[in-house]
Amino acid sequence: MEEFTPAVDNTVRMYACGPTVYDYGHIGNFRTFVAVDILRRFLLQSGHKLQHVMNITDVDDKIIRNAARDKKTVQEYTRKYEDAFLEDMGSLNLERPEQLVRATEHIQQMAEFIAALEKKGIAYRTEDGSYYFRIAKFPEYGKLSKKDFAGMEVGARVDVDEYEKDNARDFALWKAPKEGEAFWESPIGPGRPGWHIECSVMAMKYLGESLDLHAGGEDLTFPHHENEIAQSESLTGKTFARHWMHVRFLLVEGEKMSKSLGNFYTLRDLLVKGHKASSIRFLLTSVPYRKQLNFTFAGLEQGAKSVDRLRTFDARMRMTQLPAGTNPMAQEAAAKAKQEMRAGLEDDLNTARASAAIFDMVREANTLADRGELREGDKASLLEALQQFDEIFAVIKDDDAEKMKSAMEWARAHGIATAPGTAGSGISDEEVNQLIEERNAAKKARDFARSDAIRKQLADAGILVEDTKDGIRWKRK
Ligand code: AMP
Ligand code: ZN
Repeated sequence: MEEFTPAVDNTVRMYACGPTVYDYGHIGNFRTFVAVDILRRFLLQSGHKLQHVMNITDVDDKIIRNAARDKKTVQEYTRKYEDAFLEDMGSLNLERPEQLVRATEHIQQMAEFIAALEKKGIAYRTEDGSYYFRIAKFPEYGKLSKKDFAGMEVGARVDVDEYEKDNARDFALWKAPKEGEAFWESPIGPGRPGWHIECSVMAMKYLGESLDLHAGGEDLTFPHHENEIAQSESLTGKTFARHWMHVRFLLVEGEKMSKSLGNFYTLRDLLVKGHKASSIRFLLTSVPYRKQLNFTFAGLEQGAKSVDRLRTFDARMRMTQLPAGTNPMAQEAAAKAKQEMRAGLEDDLNTARASAAIFDMVREANTLADRGELREGDKASLLEALQQFDEIFAVIKDDDAEKMKSAMEWARAHGIATAPGTAGSGISDEEVNQLIEERNAAKKARDFARSDAIRKQLADAGILVEDTKDGIRWKRK
């Protein structure tokens, strides 16, 4: 463990590899993006300024092939997925990076970068007009992934997107055009950039030659980030990134997520099945980024319950009138939670430790409140701690119904089946029943703010609730 400080002033210059926009984002992608969001929010909370750059990979072999197949331009093909990605970021309350930049808008700079590498004898051109990086020219190759390439074949080459793991080869910086596929004109000839070059070029353009931090999923360590280092450092002679953050791969029901195993979920798949965005975000933060997180539907249910407990507590603190004064035990619980949340996140972003701290506080405060021992003057301290938590975790504001509604609308417009019982309202029968139960409990506890909020949530979801002499009945509008 090392202390993290930005190199120059108080501003953290960080680059996080963004999505390849050839399809909708899956929950594995979002584990990484949520982890980066936690990092950015914590840096801000710690008083840093941020220059956070994220790229949109809107050109690669798959995109070019799919666009050609669909008879679309690269831009027509990718824009739909880029828009969807931005909307998904909103669903998960991911803050926008300061700069969101598209690869296709930096093609000229990439060509210039490659030309500069060629001038130094590090890049070379092949007969067809492609350019490769000569890794023999960068003796430190392998230092990030800690691989030893001593016995590698000199001059062996690999096409950029179809690399073999554990095998070091000269990699493509620029690829000559192929029949019927999109290409760009550039000072080094016609073609398209390799995948790795875009990140070196955009990171250095917006952040300078040496970044404070570079992030991505663990699969990017090799070859993507190793290649970014090779390209950038062999050109500048300076350390490319002072710190790296790699997020462990998400498992689903204990296995690697894959379409063939039937355990592959986009964020939209889950919303359309009636799962709340806040439960998904909460679940994705529940395990520290470096540890294995196994996504399960049981875990998602648990996540929903946890978020609910926090929301109920928040409403309780805002709405109940308490006797004047303070209770030292409540004050102590709030102070301890604040301190422990910071300590947890300073501990390599230990999100599990930070959220355990808030749940401890909520439990203690609820117990005091139930016993009639909580005081009016305690509410502010407890709410302050809750706010400190939510600045990072961002799950307390309840806009789940709206988000689900727009996911359902999207599903309908695309002819995608929604969960049975949701009838396109974004809420399942089971959830309606649960909410009605919660509303009764809130009414009993004279927590009218909560019961009104639930009534509004149900109304927004198109649920009509009637109080009859036989109890409560409900129907869909
Ligand atoms: P891509 O859209 O494939 O370029 O990936 C976007 C980001 O998601 C990258 O940082 C990947 O490393 C990350 N990623 C992909 N799959 C997973 C997964 N199963 N768990 C965590 N991160 C992932
Ligand atoms: Zn990248």
